[in-house]
Amino acid sequence: MSDCLFCKIVDGEIPSSKVFEDEHIYVFEDINPKADVHLLVIPKIHISRLDQATQAHAELLSHMMLSLPKLARQQGLEDGFRSIINTGPGGGQEVDHLHIHILGGKKLPGFH
Ligand code: 5GP
Ligand code: ZN
Repeated sequence: MSDCLFCKIVDGEIPSSKVFEDEHIYVFEDINPKADVHLLVIPKIHISRLDQATQAHAELLSHMMLSLPKLARQQGLEDGFRSIINTGPGGGQEVDHLHIHILGGKKLPGFH
């Protein structure tokens, strides 16, 4: 139905290492981890990028944001974590389905 990679992951058409799922979001391990812990938090509905989200998505975006600390704690990231949203080519976004990266663990490099 959809040609979107992450929609296919939500639908189970493409396998993923699922960490958490509820009615609205799906959370899985990044296939090419950039840190000890590297998760992707995505909405189950297709939103291509953050600048395509609207006020109608406010509750969903809030839910995604508030899930981050819980997911980080579940991964043992007691000292904190980094969250990243890349938007569009200018932001280095490679997969056109909104996602929040959660990164953490030892030796996370500084951000300059
Ligand atoms: P972006 O650069 O769009 O912000 O991040 C896309 C992320 O998706 C990258 O970190 C990449 O490693 C990850 N990724 C791409 N394809 C797959 C896949 O098929 N499965 C999983 N689990 N992650 C993927
Ligand atoms: Zn999608």
